[in-house]
Amino acid sequence: MEYKEALKHFPQKISRSLTRFATETALKSSRYLFIKSAKGIQSAYCTHCAKQHFPEAKLKHKQLLPVQCPHCKSKCKVRASGLGRKYMVDRAVIVWYEKSVLDDKALVARVIEVRRDYSGDYTKVATEYSNNMHYVFQTGKSIYFNYGRQRAEVKSAFDEIATRYGAGLPRFMSISNIKRAVKGTPFQYSTWEQYTEYKNPRYVTDMVEFFDLAARYPCVEYLSKIGFKDFVWAKLYRDPTYGAIYWHGNSLMKVLRLSKVDLREIRDSKIVLTPKELRFYQYARKRDLPVTLQDAKLIGEMYD
Ligand SMILES: [Zn+2]
Repeated sequence: MEYKEALKHFPQKISRSLTRFATETALKSSRYLFIKSAKGIQSAYCTHCAKQHFPEAKLKHKQLLPVQCPHCKSKCKVRASGLGRKYMVDRAVIVWYEKSVLDDKALVARVIEVRRDYSGDYTKVATEYSNNMHYVFQTGKSIYFNYGRQRAEVKSAFDEIATRYGAGLPRFMSISNIKRAVKGTPFQYSTWEQYTEYKNPRYVTDMVEFFDLAARYPCVEYLSKIGFKDFVWAKLYRDPTYGAIYWHGNSLMKVLRLSKVDLREIRDSKIVLTPKELRFYQYARKRDLPVTLQDAKLIGEMYD
């Protein structure tokens, strides 16, 4: 797909909810009171509501305590207006999901860098948006454009940004944003809600690798629903799944490479196997070895 074609899936405008998310969440700490004094009277200008007030107690440049703007009630950091601020820029990265405007079954995501640059006139600062990473998810395929160039593989832009230039950049994903975007698309039931939190609690996922899996492999949904979440996690963590799963399969029997009887046994027993344990079980079943699910659970991990 050409870049121009891919872009047709995306809404042209920065929506109100995106603006709100950028201002109220991603750049919430980017609110300042710029202070100056004339004839012994200090005034403070709020960069959030663009209003001025005269503080009752004297404010100090870079004081540790934030100060509430009396007009908009924002908690603001204090900066002296007369001092140099050549490098005063606040930045954050957002992943933003929407429905495709071209195909009502498709989901699109952008990874957007938002910034507020205070190096010039602080009364004219506006939030800037740069959208350089575009994803289109459709049933059966997903596409990733990074700065207009299509990548062979769909990868997390959050991870790329973190390793390439933005290790300290805060990253934001919004669950309610995804919920709204997937509603009415095939991705609504993809079980995405189960994969928003990684083992490392500080890790923020942009969820694009999950939606890539869900787009390409319909089995993601039923694997999650019958308790084989670990397999999906293994894919997301790039851990081996030992060939235990046939990802392209269109039935659970094919996906798990098991017979109907074995499958029923797994369901009834409620035993959840790891990829390695399942591989061992499949191996044993194929050779008609007297191995039960409990056995697989006990010794599967040791099996090589
Ligand atoms: Zn204000």
